[in-house]
Amino acid sequence: HYPTAELQALDAAHHIHPFSDSAAMRARGARVITQADGVWLTDSEGNRILDGMAGLWCVNIGYGREELAEAAARQMRQLPFYNTFFMTTHPPAVALSAKLAEIAPGDLNRVFYAGSGSEANDTNIRLVRHYWHAMGKPEKRTIIARKNAYHGSTMGGASLGGMGAMHAQGGLPIPDIVHIDQPHWWAEGDDLSPEEFGRARARQLEEMIDRLGEGTVAAFIAEPIQGAGGVIIPPESYWPEISRICREREILLIADEVICGFGRTGHWFGSQHFGIDPDIMTIAKGLSSGYQPIGGSIIRESVAEVIEASGEFFHGYTYSSHPVAAAVALENIRILGEEGIIDRVREDTAPYMAQKWATLAEHPMVGEARMVGLMGALELTPDKAARAAFANEGTVGLMTRERCFANGLVMRHVGDKMIISPPLVITHEEIDRLIELAWQSLDEGMAQAKA
Ligand code: PLP
Repeated sequence: HYPTAELQALDAAHHIHPFSDSAAMRARGARVITQADGVWLTDSEGNRILDGMAGLWCVNIGYGREELAEAAARQMRQLPFYNTFFMTTHPPAVALSAKLAEIAPGDLNRVFYAGSGSEANDTNIRLVRHYWHAMGKPEKRTIIARKNAYHGSTMGGASLGGMGAMHAQGGLPIPDIVHIDQPHWWAEGDDLSPEEFGRARARQLEEMIDRLGEGTVAAFIAEPIQGAGGVIIPPESYWPEISRICREREILLIADEVICGFGRTGHWFGSQHFGIDPDIMTIAKGLSSGYQPIGGSIIRESVAEVIEASGEFFHGYTYSSHPVAAAVALENIRILGEEGIIDRVREDTAPYMAQKWATLAEHPMVGEARMVGLMGALELTPDKAARAAFANEGTVGLMTRERCFANGLVMRHVGDKMIISPPLVITHEEIDRLIELAWQSLDEGMAQAKA
């Protein structure tokens, strides 16, 4: 046992937490997580908690895989660091790049590494602008993204993201980044069918291109399924229409696969679930199952060739293709593939989870229970028929999240949506337990909302 109160006091004195309300955390004391195994976390009081969020949507392979620790230790002994700047390389970077080219769809065969998803998206901004410059069309600079999206916390990543609260802190977005609406049918579909609504939302891309002037748009970026914005699953009609527009209007399509990649939808990439053919995919999180910080951009060969032909790309991070992170990512990908973990999600775990998750829609406070692969959301509402929003947005979601944690389940809330994204290795029995805990927490959240 760790001395919880002492850790909490030191933490409050010296540690600034990302995305945390410091005053609320000081009042309650930060939760101290000390170890984990499979899908289970252990806190400093010895409680076991089912991690329904795979950390931050990243521990796809589950906690406690010795092989990954061994891969890291081996690589640290052999070559703990070397860079890939100035025409140098090392075996883990080579092997991981070749492996990613093999599993990525079509001719996405070149990888540029970063330390995180945010940095990878910053790379993408510079890369697509540099690409059009090299193509003799420097006026194609603007990037279209989506409202409510999360693409990272760097100046570039947060600008691509469409979160007003983030933009307000720091004067974002940076110039030449604009946002269109997301295809959130449940909340905004009105009397359109999902298919009609999906097409209408996709056509906002075309309308935005027309408004900006066709020759000024460099790229469109979106997640196959928007994760942190609330697991917004697009209607079937959405992605084909987006793809058509990008092709016809000659703009690059960036699929941010930071959450959807590495098995989350039951395929290596979310793009494969929807039949998207992106020019660039952003990767991070599940690439190493979070065991090491690593991200990157997988780039279509023809796009990479233009960049390469134009001379040196003045861009890179000290930890681009970090050898230890690359070795761990490679081992993670080996296990995900060889143990059939992703196939099992697609063929077994996801259908089982979807069926159980759907039962939560019978809860009086749940307006919709949606899921693809192993990522899902519940829409909390005081009035299902009217699809009404709660008066004080986010309060019931927060109370329900806190009840979940007290009951031994990590679920995240985005406003009044409850979000789930467990490790891909979750068993049927653990799914049953997750659903029980979720139902109980919804009951308690609802009771508190009424009180
Ligand atoms: N893109 C998406 C879709 C994400 O969900 C995230 C993180 O949650 C990022 C980018 C940023 O990645 P990182 O936190 O590794 O910088």
